[in-house]
Amino acid sequence: MAGDQSLKNTHMAIVLGIGLGVVVLIIASLLLTIFINRRDRRTFLQSSKNADERLRSLDAVSPTRTLEEWWTITKGSLGLSEAVDGHFVCAVCLDEVSRTEQIRELQCRHVFHRECLETWYLGDHFNCPLCHHEYYVPKNTRRLDYVWMV
Ligand SMILES: [Zn+2]
Ligand SMILES: [Zn+2]
Repeated sequence: MAGDQSLKNTHMAIVLGIGLGVVVLIIASLLLTIFINRRDRRTFLQSSKNADERLRSLDAVSPTRTLEEWWTITKGSLGLSEAVDGHFVCAVCLDEVSRTEQIRELQCRHVFHRECLETWYLGDHFNCPLCHHEYYVPKNTRRLDYVWMV
């Protein structure tokens, strides 16, 4: 009878030990997941902050407005190659730009979807996608190098 009892206790201890091990493993992996997520989030926030700063520089050379607003401002002086019967095509995504959509205009007077030009710009392209006119000179480019390249 007593032997039976001790066997039962040993059995219980093994079950308890395994159970405890599983619980510890679950908690450990949970903590690891939280840690990794937080680290990812931090890098994400940092990169989006950098993008915000860079987009502010873009705002200086290429203001954001709707196509409608831009149209009102430039009306009368429209001799733009990409406007056919009042339809504008974004040269980045080759989709039509509707009048209520947000656009970015470059100094060469070419217009693109706001998001399309932002993606283009954030990908370190500082020339107009259509005519390759340089619209922005990165701050870290030395003037001498720039002149030399031209
Ligand atoms: Zn586009
Ligand atoms: Zn252009």
